[in-house]
Parts: sequence; C-alpha cells; structure tokens
Amino acid sequence: MSDTATIEPRTKAPAFDVGAIRAEFPILATEMQGRPLVYLDSAASTQKPKAVIDALAHVYAADYANIHRGIYDLSQRASALHDEARHKVQRFIKAQDWREIVFTRNATEAINLVAQCFTAPDLRAGDEILVTEMEHHANIVPWQMIAEAKGAKVVPAPVTEVGELDLEAFERLIGPKTRMIAVVWVSNVLGTVNPVAEIVALAKARGVPVLIDAAQAVQHLPVDVQALDADFIVFSAHKLYGPSGVGVLWGKAAHLDAMPPYQGGGDMIERVSFSGTTWNEIPFKFEAGTPDIAGIIALGAAIDFVESIGIEAIARHEAELLAYGTRAIQQVPGLRLIGTAHEKASVLTFTLEGAHPQDIGMLLDLDGIAIRTGHHCAMPLHERFGLNASARASFGIYNTTDDIDALTRSLHRAAGMFQ
Ligand code: PLP
Repeated sequence: MSDTATIEPRTKAPAFDVGAIRAEFPILATEMQGRPLVYLDSAASTQKPKAVIDALAHVYAADYANIHRGIYDLSQRASALHDEARHKVQRFIKAQDWREIVFTRNATEAINLVAQCFTAPDLRAGDEILVTEMEHHANIVPWQMIAEAKGAKVVPAPVTEVGELDLEAFERLIGPKTRMIAVVWVSNVLGTVNPVAEIVALAKARGVPVLIDAAQAVQHLPVDVQALDADFIVFSAHKLYGPSGVGVLWGKAAHLDAMPPYQGGGDMIERVSFSGTTWNEIPFKFEAGTPDIAGIIALGAAIDFVESIGIEAIARHEAELLAYGTRAIQQVPGLRLIGTAHEKASVLTFTLEGAHPQDIGMLLDLDGIAIRTGHHCAMPLHERFGLNASARASFGIYNTTDDIDALTRSLHRAAGMFQ
C-alpha cells in the first residue's frame, strides 16, 4: 500500500467554513431512519445547494418557455438564460469556444454520442479501442456496442494492486490498430486520479484521439480543456451539485463539425424537406428536441456556486477529509481499503471481513449514514480485485470530520457484529 502521507493536505487551515456551506444544503438538516443524515454518497450524486434548487424553482415560476422557438419575450428570456448556462460551462472548463459545449442527458449519453458519431463511422474489423480496467460501465459498454457491430475489440489496460493505472502497460497497448482511447480521469471506485496529461500526450504522439471521462473529476479538480488538449471530455451536472438530467460533452469544434448528428428532430436541423434535410450548426446539431431547459440553467447556478467557493479550496477541504478518513477507517478490524493510489480524490472503498457489503450498507443506514454498496457500475474492476462487491463512502464539499467519525463508529460496531 502506498504511503497515506502523500494525501496529506498542504495546509491545516480550514479551507472554508463548512458549517456555512452545510447550511446551503437543506437536505443535510433532514433525518434518515430517525437519525441526522450523514451523506457519504456524493460520488453517486451530490446533494443540491439552495442556489440550484432556487434556480430551478425560479425558472419554472418566472422565466419558463420553450427556447430558440418563440418570438415573444418570455421565450427570449428563457433562451438567454439557457445560452448563458452554456457560457458558464465554457468558462468553468476553460473551453475556447461555446460551440464546443454540447448538452446531453448525462455523461453516459455524451460517451455514447462520441462512440456512435465519432468513432463508429471509421471503425473497421480488427480495430481496437483502448480503455482501462478501472472504467465505469458508461465508458465500457458504449465502446463494446460499436466494437461488436464492426468486429473491433475493446482492450483494457491493467490496474496495479494499489489501484493505479499501469502506465507502461497502457503505453504498450497503444498500437497501429488503436482507433480511440477512452480513460476515466478520477475512478469512482478507487478514487485514483489518473495522469490524464501524460495519457493525452501518449495518445497524441501516436495520432490516436482521446476521450476523458471527467464525471468524477470536475467536482474535485480544476479542469482546463485547452491545456489538457484531449479530443473529448464528458461529465454530468448531478455530480457537480447540479440537477440530474443534464450532461456535458465538450469536443474540439473541428471534430464536432465533421461528425454526423446523433439523433434527428427539432432544433438540430437547418432545413427540412422530403427531398433532403440539412443540419444546424454545432452544438445544436447534437441537441435534437426540447432539452432540460430549467436543468441546464440550474447547472449554470451550480457552477456559480462551486466557483464562489473555488475548486482549489474544495480540493483542499476534500484532501483533508480523505487523509483523516483513510487513517480512521483503517483502524477498523478486518477492513480492507481498495485503492490506495498516490494521487487520490474523495473516495474510500472497502470491504469488511466476514460482512457482505450489502449488510454493512444496511447497518449504516440504520445509523443514518448513506454509503454505496455493490459493484458501483465497475464490475470488471471488482473482478480485477477478486471481489463481487464493495462498500464506498465518498465525500463532497459539505462533509466534515464528524461525518467520518460517525462512519468509523458504525464500522467498528459492524466489525464487532460480523467477526
Ligand atoms: N463515469 C464515471 C467515472 C462515473 O462515476 C459515472 C457515474 O457514476 C459515470 C461515468 C456515468 O454518469 P451518469 O450516470 O451521470 O451518466
């Protein structure tokens, strides 16, 4: 196991006033099973601050109409707010051009879009798509679907015992048949922060396009898509303190321009006739039908909220919690931590000797503690570690050492019951 000292925060000073942050999240003042809620499942979905809830309510109460269609003032207002949200995403990930931001339903749909419209058209029998063993199913199955249709293959790069990507093996697997590389930035199970800059450099050196799955990255780390220079980046609003139902695909304008549309319908066309239809410009070409208008506007509010605290301050706070939590839960007898990478974000995944993860989850639930149990949509990774399932506690901006203490107390009790 690697030295946990490497995840020590750089400063002992509190990154921000967590109490004040918690007061922004109404759900944290509620109870679960008659106990104060201890929410430790932010990797599955984060809770929502008042600013996001209010933005949603306000759109429906005061600014709602369909967008890009109405000549009347209300529709124009809704359209302007929706367009503004796209500019907020552009600013947040430092994209060069707002046209490179495509709104989808979630990160999963964004990956499917790239697989179907960018990779599939040129995929041939024998071609390879390189992923890693630590991918979420969302970054495996869409590639398997196009590979199966074309007689191509999805190749997984190995993960080491501590849960890091074996970069040398990864490099060796990039060959003349590699058509696409798709890698997770931060693992939702291991917490591992992959060296995406090196991965992109390796891919570029061989002329292979890269997609980075940033679903677990944007809420923890600063993202600069121009500096990273990948071809595509995807994420979901609901893991970034925003609403569910909205995802983001960032892609280089030249790629998006050259790609065929994903789905047909309203808004994605320039002109429709029975003798032939032409496509709208990017990003609208990929946004068929009425989007989640209020959700997209509320994503803008989530970005404002995160930026008002600062992603660096968030990262520092979460690093403190991770260091504290790593030390604390390792004192629990029979606990095995899965994933002890040198570079790690806000996730503690573990097993407990003698206990099924499901039983741990149920016991913790009775204490008001919400954690995730199961395979976390990463079955191949669990197989790699010889597991069917695990338990996962994950943190966000609002978690405290009190939350970790509650988790540790319950785990000690569970260990006493099962061993
Ligand atoms: N990628 C990673 C690393 C994830 O953790 C998740 C969700 O847990 C996804 C992709 C898929 O996100 P969504 O379900 O929002 O599409």
